[in-house]
Amino acid sequence: MTQSDFEQNMQDIQNKNENEQTAPAAPEQQAAQESQAQQPAQQEPPTPQPAESVPPTSPLPSELHESTANATWSRMLQGNKRFAEGKAEHPWQDKETRHMLTDGQKPDAAVLSCSDSRVPPEIIFDQGLGDLFTVRTAGQMIDDAVIASLEYAVKKLHVSLLCVLGHGRCGALEVAEREYNELLRTITAEAEDSSETADIMDDLDERIAQSDSIVLRQAGISVWQAREAELDCLDDIERVHVAHTIETLVDRSPVIQQALASEQLMIVGARYQLDTGRIEVLSF
Ligand SMILES: [Zn+2]
Repeated sequence: MTQSDFEQNMQDIQNKNENEQTAPAAPEQQAAQESQAQQPAQQEPPTPQPAESVPPTSPLPSELHESTANATWSRMLQGNKRFAEGKAEHPWQDKETRHMLTDGQKPDAAVLSCSDSRVPPEIIFDQGLGDLFTVRTAGQMIDDAVIASLEYAVKKLHVSLLCVLGHGRCGALEVAEREYNELLRTITAEAEDSSETADIMDDLDERIAQSDSIVLRQAGISVWQAREAELDCLDDIERVHVAHTIETLVDRSPVIQQALASEQLMIVGARYQLDTGRIEVLSF
C-alpha cells in the first residue's frame, strides 16, 4: 500500500461515513455483496465432498480449487456469507483431511486478525484444516514475531492472499482510544498556554511513538490518524487501524514488498461485524 493508496483509503472511509447517513448499506459492503452475486457459477469453488469420497491419494484440499488471490478471497467471502446466514458447512475438518495434511500444508491465504474470542478466522470464513495460515494478536498489533510469521506464509508457503482483519467493538482499540484521550488531557494540563499546547499537538505522533504504553504506541497512531481525518467513532478508528496495519506491514517487510511487486501476493483489508456476522471489505 503506497502513501497515496493510504490517503485514498482514508478518503474512502470518510466517504463511507457520509454515505452511511443516507444509505442502509456501505458501498464496500454492497460491492462485496455484488461481487458475490455476480460470481459466475463456473468459478464457484467446488463444494467440499464428504470425507468418505476423498481417496487417500487426493491432493491437499487447497489444491482442489483455484489458488489465485481473487478466487481465494471470493471463496472466503462466500464462506463468511454461509456462516452469517447460519449455513456453515465446516469443510475439511474430518479425520481423512487431518491425515492428508500430515505431509504438509499449502494454505491459500494468511490472515492477521485480533485475538478476540469472538473473531476466529476459520469459523467466520467457514474454512477448514489447511485453508488459512492465521496470526492473531490483540488489535492485530504488529511485532517482529508477527512479521516473521507472515513472511513465512508468504515466502515458504506461497500464500497468494493476505487478509488484515479488524472487527467491531475491538477492546484493544478502545484501550488505545482511552489512552490517547488521557495523553491529550496530560498535554493540555502540562502546557502553560494555548500556543504551547498547539506546538505539542504538532508533535503528537512523536509523543505517541515515545509512549511507555505498547497499546498506545501500536494503535494510538491509528486513533491519531482517524482524528486528523475527523473520523471520531470507534468503527472508523477500527477501519483506519486496518489501513495503518497494512501500511506498517508493507513498510517493515521486504519479503511482503517483493511479493507485492512481483504480483505473487494481494493484500486485502476487512472488518468483521459482530452483530451481523458479515465481513465488511475495506480494500481489494
Ligand atoms: Zn479486537
